[in-house]
Amino acid sequence: MRKADMYIIRVRGVVQGVGFRPSVARAAASMEASGYVRNDGSHVTIACDMEPARFMEGLLPHLGPMARVEDWSFEEVDGELEGPFRILPSVEGEMDSPLPPDTAICDRCLRELTDRADRRFLYPFTNCTDCGARYTVIDSLPYDRQRTSMKDFPMCSRCQGEYSDQGSRRFHAQTISCPDCGPRYRFLGSDLEVRAEGWDSFLECARSLKGGGRLIVKGWGGMHIICDPANLGSLREWYGRPYKPFALMARDLSFVESAAHLPDSARKALISPARPIVLLKKRDDAPGWVRSAMEMASPGLDSIGIYLPYSGIHHLLFRALGSVGADLPWIVMTSANPPGEPMALDVGEASKLGADGYLVHDRRISARCDDSVLVSDPFGDGVIAREGPFSIRGFPVRKARGLVPDPLEVPHGRKILSFGAERNVTVTVTREGRAYTSPYVGNTRHPEVVDYTLDSAGRFMYLFGAGDVEAVACDLHPRYETVKIAREMADERSVPLIRIQHHRAHAASLMVGSAVEGMGVIVVDGVGYGDDGLPWGGEIFHASWEDIDRVGHLQYFGLPGGDASVYHPERIAHWLSMEAGSDLDIGDEKVRSILAASHSGAVRTSSMGRLLDALSALLLGVTWRSYDGEPAMRLESLLSRAREPEIELFSLPVRGREVDVVGRWRILLEELFVNGSPKIGDRSGDRRSADLAMGMVRSIISDMVEVGMKGVDDNEGKMGISGGVAYDIPILEAFVEEVKARGMTPVLHSRVPPGDGGISVGQAALAGRML
Ligand SMILES: [Zn+2]
Ligand SMILES: [Zn+2]
Repeated sequence: MRKADMYIIRVRGVVQGVGFRPSVARAAASMEASGYVRNDGSHVTIACDMEPARFMEGLLPHLGPMARVEDWSFEEVDGELEGPFRILPSVEGEMDSPLPPDTAICDRCLRELTDRADRRFLYPFTNCTDCGARYTVIDSLPYDRQRTSMKDFPMCSRCQGEYSDQGSRRFHAQTISCPDCGPRYRFLGSDLEVRAEGWDSFLECARSLKGGGRLIVKGWGGMHIICDPANLGSLREWYGRPYKPFALMARDLSFVESAAHLPDSARKALISPARPIVLLKKRDDAPGWVRSAMEMASPGLDSIGIYLPYSGIHHLLFRALGSVGADLPWIVMTSANPPGEPMALDVGEASKLGADGYLVHDRRISARCDDSVLVSDPFGDGVIAREGPFSIRGFPVRKARGLVPDPLEVPHGRKILSFGAERNVTVTVTREGRAYTSPYVGNTRHPEVVDYTLDSAGRFMYLFGAGDVEAVACDLHPRYETVKIAREMADERSVPLIRIQHHRAHAASLMVGSAVEGMGVIVVDGVGYGDDGLPWGGEIFHASWEDIDRVGHLQYFGLPGGDASVYHPERIAHWLSMEAGSDLDIGDEKVRSILAASHSGAVRTSSMGRLLDALSALLLGVTWRSYDGEPAMRLESLLSRAREPEIELFSLPVRGREVDVVGRWRILLEELFVNGSPKIGDRSGDRRSADLAMGMVRSIISDMVEVGMKGVDDNEGKMGISGGVAYDIPILEAFVEEVKARGMTPVLHSRVPPGDGGISVGQAALAGRML
């Protein structure tokens, strides 16, 4: 027995539910330290009789892949520690600890899954302290089995043995199970009758897929629609999504390589434990059947969303396909959303879609979580872009499974709840200087999504101990559903409602995500309600936590029919052409005369997104938007084909704070239609139109950067870009070059989505400063 000094170490970060306490116990044993470790709500407490810095250093090599120590502190106390190091039960109480994300099955568990001699052979729920579902099974904190949906499955004696054995990698693993005690899969026919159970249900599912079935499979955080990519045509017809891009899940990395270009950052993201869907550029030299499947999956686009299996379920599905002689290298795997609803959670909701069969399990989903979608960052050094969880570099389009929660620092200690805008809504709560943002919620035009938004707000306030919020933040738009629910919530609690202009929230979200304060920011976006009541979307700010000052914007142009022009981008092209002194032939005489008559009365906007829509209509003939962002995404494919962008052609003087739009449109028409009158889609995306479009876009970005850098002396030469258009790689490339050419440093989005998924983060950060 020895007597020593006693130290209490408090550790914060992703330290609960990730095998942290067992790692501490193992490290302590190897260093022969006495003491204990315990989850203490907001942190993990370690008591030990060793010098804290030495202890923490000795701990590092023992940590699992999911654990992340963000900071730690210690104090010396009077007391004695003796005997072996112990793991103490959690203390109930304050609940503001970061809860861990779901992470892909680890290599060791995967080996067990495919080892005939192992007791978990072909068992889809195999996991350990290093891997598995977390966010989607946790009901409340601190993280313990009885506070997860695994509480319905008491451990058998063998699992209990592993759980209590300090030498096992399942020591204190809260969600472990086995075929004897855990959840199970069943396969249901279209009539919802049980057709098979256990491994047989995977075989039955595979046979149905092989036979052309359009099926639904229940995973960790919701339900997915799956089919053989060869049957995408019939899937689109049945699911009622004619052009919307679908993601494909590939069996392995080598197949992904044969289908799409795979820069290092994309490869790293694909195989990271977060396993996001990564948007990759299709290969022109891929085999014909691969190319046609990709064209069916994302019609008219250069890019395709691909991801790798992340749960035992997916690995078993590919294995079962092999067993029934349908050796598919990939399958369609997309969220199963009944029309206007969030992703389905149970077979009752999913059965509204009327699939040919259902592969489902009997574990309750505690929290819905869609797949994350990421554009990998091609820029490398020379730009400011923070690495996300698991060292991923990229711009999250949708931050969800594997990437949430991802606590981020905000410049205040207030408790704020914020609701985002309308599309790609997320909910954020802040507390003690950190922001916790929910996974992607959806489009709140749909009543079911509004309900889900409220659920998410409730869950996050509860989990992170922010039930007593000090203010509620929302958008300026008078008619957003999120504004209504924010107002109701603020009234109910008698706390202030703080309304934040949409694009200032974008700029603030960039400051939070990049941890850079004080920079010029250009926000290239769809539309958001402006201070003057007009739809903004091409904005230039000087941003700091003191103030986000609008120093310039795109010249206002017409949106004939207001919101309707979002669905009919050729109307905007028509307006711009008329304004430029040329009458664009949009092929419909009646519509054209109505537009001409209403020309001067059209709503005005400064939106970059709407300008890109108009370009897409003019150059590619995209006259109808069938899904969110379609015209701009189609245009991105055209822009990326530009070889010699004709920038000089479009150079025009900046008048005050306004970047010229109509003048550039006039130049474009003159160059495109030397002979004859302009006609929609006439040039159908030829090479010259790619060079012209890129020239025009590039010169606009150049002017925005120019205006943004003017009169800024406290921005340390930093210039950022945000907004829903800031995923567009050709536009980002133009931005990065323009900023660097002026000797400044580009700041890009990384841990917060550039689009509206980041709005709630910016709102919460700003609102706390305004209280
Ligand atoms: Zn594992
Ligand atoms: Zn068991």
